[in-house]
Amino acid sequence: EAVVNRIAAGEIIHRPANALKELIENSLDAGSTSIQVSIKDGGLKLLQIQDNGHGIRVGDLAIVCERFTTSKLRTFDDLSTMSTYGFRGEALASVSHIAHVAITTKTKDSNCAYKASYSDGAIIPAKPGGAAEPKPCAGNNGTQISAEDLFYNVPTRRKALKNATEEYNRILDVVNRYAIHNEGVSFTCRKVGSNTPDVHTTTSATVVDNIRHIYGTAVANELLSLEKSYPVYPLKIKGWISNANYNVKKFVMLLFINHRSVESPAIRKAIEAVYTTYLPKNTHPWVYLSLEMDPRNVDVNVHPTKREVHFMNEEEVIATICEAIQDRLGDANV
Ligand code: ADP
Ligand code: MG
Repeated sequence: EAVVNRIAAGEIIHRPANALKELIENSLDAGSTSIQVSIKDGGLKLLQIQDNGHGIRVGDLAIVCERFTTSKLRTFDDLSTMSTYGFRGEALASVSHIAHVAITTKTKDSNCAYKASYSDGAIIPAKPGGAAEPKPCAGNNGTQISAEDLFYNVPTRRKALKNATEEYNRILDVVNRYAIHNEGVSFTCRKVGSNTPDVHTTTSATVVDNIRHIYGTAVANELLSLEKSYPVYPLKIKGWISNANYNVKKFVMLLFINHRSVESPAIRKAIEAVYTTYLPKNTHPWVYLSLEMDPRNVDVNVHPTKREVHFMNEEEVIATICEAIQDRLGDANV
């Protein structure tokens, strides 16, 4: 059974950045305003996240890494809390099957923090043969989750991921995207042992401040805001897009659907086509888009870590997005 679970976990978590994305989303779901990420060896040795969210009650610590354990509602009427991807209570369980997981957490109403370690979906007894209860300890409000030795028990996966620099860049990319999308939340990401974080956003920074911090002044100074609602689908589009004269060699698209970072090659292709009439040859757009749609219209068969997403009325929705961008570019370039 352990092997089957490990294989299932490996299908959800392909690399450190996938695990981190899930952990960041959990911290955001817990209402955190500070999220600090620490990394060793591209996340393969250590992936650690510290948040200041509502914490996990000590009574829930024993089961939190079991499959399908979730504190989040899942009803068809409660659109704001329903999972967009039909994926619930699997992330922590998956990570615990492919790494050594430790959780230290404190809720506001508790006098102390509690720490517990996990393996293969279950809490590990504090002493061999001893009781499996979480140990009281000192700690701030919020949750710290560490995943050590990622894929220690999946040698093929481990071998395929030997480039720590590449893995770290993917981790940074995930942190950057979520930092830009979550105004009012402070994010840091650092390598353990390094004094200066590679990303550091503050709670008072605006979206554009964060874009400037991460992508530079050249991008930030060229941005056009985008905001439109279409009650028909329904669909809400928000974001910031580069103006026509933005001059870079790589198309950057930050895409969020219902606040989850996703990829959509179809949206990418369509947006690039809109820009071709405006951009000089061999230059590309920079686009940050946040789409909100009825979760029932988003394909629930796609696992979030596969990232590539499909949704209902895809062609119409994409045409609508392109029209909004086209209008904005047109207005700015008369
Ligand atoms: P899901 O997010 O789909 O509920 P997860 O496996 O990602 O499933 O997390 C399981 C549960 O653990 C969550 O429902 C939540 O109750 C709790 N949890 C995980 N991370 C945190 C966190 N950073 N702060 C508070 N609670 C958390
Ligand atoms: Mg989760």
